Amino acid sequence: MKHKYTGKCLCGEVSYVACGQPIIVAQCHCEECRRSSGTGHAVGAMFVSGAVTLSGKTNEFRYMSSKDSEVTKASCASCGSPVFGTNTRTPDHLTIALGTMDDANGLEIEVVIFARDKPHWDQLGQDVISFAAQPDWKPED
Ligand SMILES: [Zn+2]
Ligand SMILES: [Zn+2]
Repeated sequence: MKHKYTGKCLCGEVSYVACGQPIIVAQCHCEECRRSSGTGHAVGAMFVSGAVTLSGKTNEFRYMSSKDSEVTKASCASCGSPVFGTNTRTPDHLTIALGTMDDANGLEIEVVIFARDKPHWDQLGQDVISFAAQPDWKPED
């Protein structure tokens, strides 16, 4: 039996089931991934499109990549979470935003791309304080 990866957006309106193993899991620091995620990178798991069943309404935004292919980023029409992307360079594939996956156990980042665009703040220094959950902290007034 094939492994199934399930996932959903923040509000739960968009969900998916992906069958089998991803072709690759990549972390991308390109400008488009940074801006659309609002963070220093996006992490995506690429699957053959036919292996993924999606449900729910998405908004799609298209742009041309530096390699002149058309990239589509699909996000939940209701909460805005990025859910998946496609690229005309790899037509029969889609890349799921790994943060939407319910259980990504067993998956590891295999490659980093656009490392040259990685912002300096997207890595932790040795002295950064870490809390297991939200600390009881507010800005002082
Ligand atoms: Zn949503
Ligand atoms: Zn990117």
